[in-house]
Amino acid sequence: MKALVYLGPGQKGLDERPMPRLAAATDAVVKISRTTICGTDLHILKGDVATCAPGRILGHEGVGVVSETGAGVTVFKTGDRVLISCISSCGKCEYCRRGMYSHCTTGGWILGNTIDGTQAEYVRIPHADTSLYKIPDGADEEALVMLSDILPTGFECGVLNGKVKPGDAVAIVGAGPIGLATLLTAQFYSPAQLILIDLDDSRLKVAKRFGATATINAGDGKAAAAVLALTEGRGVDAAIEAVGTPATFVLCEDIVAPGGTIANIGVHGTKADLHLEKLWSQNISITTRLVDTVSTPMLLKTVQAKKIDPRLLITHHFKLDDILAAYEVFGHAADSKALKVIIEA
Ligand SMILES: [Zn+2]
Ligand SMILES: [Zn+2]
Repeated sequence: MKALVYLGPGQKGLDERPMPRLAAATDAVVKISRTTICGTDLHILKGDVATCAPGRILGHEGVGVVSETGAGVTVFKTGDRVLISCISSCGKCEYCRRGMYSHCTTGGWILGNTIDGTQAEYVRIPHADTSLYKIPDGADEEALVMLSDILPTGFECGVLNGKVKPGDAVAIVGAGPIGLATLLTAQFYSPAQLILIDLDDSRLKVAKRFGATATINAGDGKAAAAVLALTEGRGVDAAIEAVGTPATFVLCEDIVAPGGTIANIGVHGTKADLHLEKLWSQNISITTRLVDTVSTPMLLKTVQAKKIDPRLLITHHFKLDDILAAYEVFGHAADSKALKVIIEA
């Protein structure tokens, strides 16, 4: 089968690989119909993710059809259309029993990281019963690809951890796919202000369309002052970091109101300063989280009920044969204006 393979820092290829086989009774093999590329895949390609070894098939998002199940799989059968969660969970270990699937002792984020992923014609899914979701009849499969990772990530790490409430002032730093997924799902809670901060005016324009009440281009270095001006000098109740750089994290420290929360979503590769000399007395909380995907069933219902439309995040379409071109487009988002790219297998 064809698969996108990580070959070491800066190197990837569309290679011919053997079909995945069941390795445990609880595994299923899924024939991929649609997958996508995540910012995390770009981090891997830069060499930032030490757990992902050269030779790995990338990808942790997608939808497909079950083609084979192990003897221990009871919920799914061959032919079922399924959504693949970016997090694999056994459902039984101590972390899974606490709903913290991201830290499953035999799962977590393994797809396209420590085991082969979804940017291929087929993928092996461990713990299939608790890591796949049935796609409801009539559902828009393309839209559901956004439920593998980015919608639960924005919602759980940003909105839930940021404790977004009705009437809140919320700032989201970063208007990429994750920031925009956070913007979409924050609106479940009717915050009064949803301020989007980015360096790219075209992304900020998209944010406006998605429901941002104000946008700030941080290019002039005065984003914090602009947020304070929008909030009567108070700052925001939730400062949500969706970039993953020291500067954007420090910006969140500068704009969080007394009693507020800094909710980190970004993948950080280097240390960021924590200004406790300013924050020690401000009653703030700082949260971090790897998405658990516990909210996936709820998000599926909101998409089915058209409360949110994740299709808005899809800007480009490619065939698996053209996945290298898809990486080019996704990797140069400032020029291509790409948000999420759908890859059809
Ligand atoms: Zn991802
Ligand atoms: Zn587990």
